[in-house]
Amino acid sequence: MTAPRDFGVLEENVRRFRDDRDWRKFHTPKDLAASVAIEAAELLEHFQWRTDDETRADLADPAKKAAVAREMADVLILLLSASDVMGVDLYETTLRKIEENALKYPVEKARGRADKYDRL
Ligand SMILES: [Mg+2]
Repeated sequence: MTAPRDFGVLEENVRRFRDDRDWRKFHTPKDLAASVAIEAAELLEHFQWRTDDETRADLADPAKKAAVAREMADVLILLLSASDVMGVDLYETTLRKIEENALKYPVEKARGRADKYDRL
């Protein structure tokens, strides 16, 4: 079993990276929200025009998997930057959202189904 990881360490490292470069002045809510979407698009680009079989093969290639992982990290970094600037407790909000999702998608109704909650 791995040790629990500290979300606060990520938040602090992202904040320090930004502040060491005096980039806070550029971090408006709009530009950070746009940057999250841009980084998500960069993640998606790895799968564009690829079949499921091709994607599976790509992810079995350590270099390609690492490139995908770096885009995932970019998304998280921008989300952490956005939550800092907007005063959002992303850790607590995510925990609450998982609880909300559990209510919307009760195991007995949602297990093994890909339907939206209003169609369960
Ligand atoms: Mg990127």
